[in-house]
Amino acid sequence: MAVNGIPQALPTLPVHPDPETEAVLDSGLLHELAHAFGGPFHFLLPHRFDANLAAFRAALDEAGVDGCVYYAKKANKAAAWIERCAATSAGVDVASPGELREVLGHGVRGENVVVTGPAKNEELLRIAVLQGALTAVDSLDELDRIIALARTGEVRPARLLLRRLPPAQPHSRFGLDEAELEEALTRCVRAGDAVRMEGFSFHLSGYAVQPRADLAGHLVDLCLKARVLGLQADRISIGGGFAVDYAAAGDWDSFLAAQQPGHYHARRRFTPADFYPYHSPVAGAEALRAVLAAVPAGGRDSLARRLRETGTVLLMEPGRALLDRAGCSVFRVQGVKDRDGYAVLTVDGTSLSLSEQWFNSEYLPDPVLVTPAGRVGGQGVHPACVGGATCLESDMLTWRKIPFPARPSAGDLLVYPNTAGYQMDSNESPFHDLALPPKIVLETTATPTGCGRPRWHLDRRPAC
Ligand SMILES: *Cc1c(COP(=O)(O)O)cnc(C)c1O
Repeated sequence: MAVNGIPQALPTLPVHPDPETEAVLDSGLLHELAHAFGGPFHFLLPHRFDANLAAFRAALDEAGVDGCVYYAKKANKAAAWIERCAATSAGVDVASPGELREVLGHGVRGENVVVTGPAKNEELLRIAVLQGALTAVDSLDELDRIIALARTGEVRPARLLLRRLPPAQPHSRFGLDEAELEEALTRCVRAGDAVRMEGFSFHLSGYAVQPRADLAGHLVDLCLKARVLGLQADRISIGGGFAVDYAAAGDWDSFLAAQQPGHYHARRRFTPADFYPYHSPVAGAEALRAVLAAVPAGGRDSLARRLRETGTVLLMEPGRALLDRAGCSVFRVQGVKDRDGYAVLTVDGTSLSLSEQWFNSEYLPDPVLVTPAGRVGGQGVHPACVGGATCLESDMLTWRKIPFPARPSAGDLLVYPNTAGYQMDSNESPFHDLALPPKIVLETTATPTGCGRPRWHLDRRPAC
C-alpha cells in the first residue's frame, strides 16, 4: 500500500511466541489432518488447560486460601476440557440443561458443578438439586422455585449461592440488589433444612482487579451477616473475567496507534474500544494473585487475609483464562482474488468459527500462513483479508489486510492462534448446511509417532 507514493506498513499483531504450537505448524501434521477431514478444523492442547488450572490452584495455595476453580464451560464446547476437569477434580460452571448433562456424562461429580445463568428452567434446577450441584440463584422467584423443588423432592437440600447485583454495574440484568438479598436471606432461614445457603457470588464484566477485590470483600461481610442468622455462608464466588494476554505490550500499543480504516477491507472502521484488550499486563492466574493481594475498599487487610480469618472459601469461574494457548483454528484457503492492492482470500469455513465478528469486533492476533512445507518466512508483504465461504458480505473472518510473507494460494492453511477461549465454537452454527468443524486433540506430550509428529484423536471419538 502507498499513501502519497510512500509505502505504508500495515499493522500486525503477532501473538507471544509459542514454540510448541510452532512445532505443530511445521510438523506437516496440519496438512495431513486437512487431507483427512477437509474443511476447517480446530486443534486442542489439553495439557495447556491442565497447566493453566494448576497455576490458578498454585495462586490459591501461595496465599493460603482455601478455594475451588470451576471452568466456565461456555467458553468452548469441546469434551476434552471437561474430561480434564473430571480427571483433576476441578469444578465446572454450567448454565443450561445441555451443558449440565454433558458435564455429568463426562464424569464430573454433581457436587463439583456450579449452575449459573439467569432464570434457570425447571429441568436445570431439578437436576442440579438431585445431583447436589451448587446453584447461583439470580432472583427471588428463582429462589422460591428451588426451595419448592427441594421440599417436594424429599431428596436432598438445595445447595445455593445468592448472586449479588454488582453495585458498580447497577444496570446489569443479573443478580439481587441489597433489598432483594435481605429478603432472600429471610426466605433461606424460613426454608430450614430444604436449603443449604453456602454463600454469595458475582460475575463482573471487564477485567479490572480492584473492583473484584472490592466486591469480594463486600461478599465476605455478607457471609458474616448470614452466619449470624444461622446460615452456612462459608464461601463466595468471584466469577470469571481473568484476562488473557495474547500479545506483547509494544505490539499492541503500536497496533492501536496505527490502525485506521484504510487498513481494512471496505474501509471498515474500528475504534480501540471495539477490541478485546489483547495485551494485559496482569492476566490469568496472575490476576487471581492480584485480586487476593488487593485490599478491598473500606478495609485494611488483603482479601486473602480476610478470607483466611473469616474461614471463607474462594470459588472462581474462569473460562477464557483456562483455555489460554490451548488451541488454534485451521482454515484452508479455497480461493484468492485481487482487489486494489490486496487480495481477498476465501477460506472453507465461516466467521461463525471465530466469534469476535459477531460482537462487531475482529479477532486481531495475526493468522499464520502454513504451506505444505511449514510456515512461510521472509520479508515479502502480500496483504490479504479473509472471507468465509458463504453468501454474506459480512461473513469476514478478518477484515484487516494482513501482510502475509508470501502470496497465499488455494490449499494453503491459515492458522488462527490461541482461539480456544470463545473464538473457536462459542457462536458456531451450521450455516448453509456446512458441517461444523471437527476438533482434534493433539497429544504433544505423548511419545511422538515415528515421523516426529504429535499423536492425535478426535475430541469426540466415534462411539464404540
Ligand atoms: C461467562 C461467565 C464466566 C466466565 O467468564 P470468563 O471471562 O471467560 O472468565 C464466569 N461466570 C459467569 C457467571 C459467566 O457468565
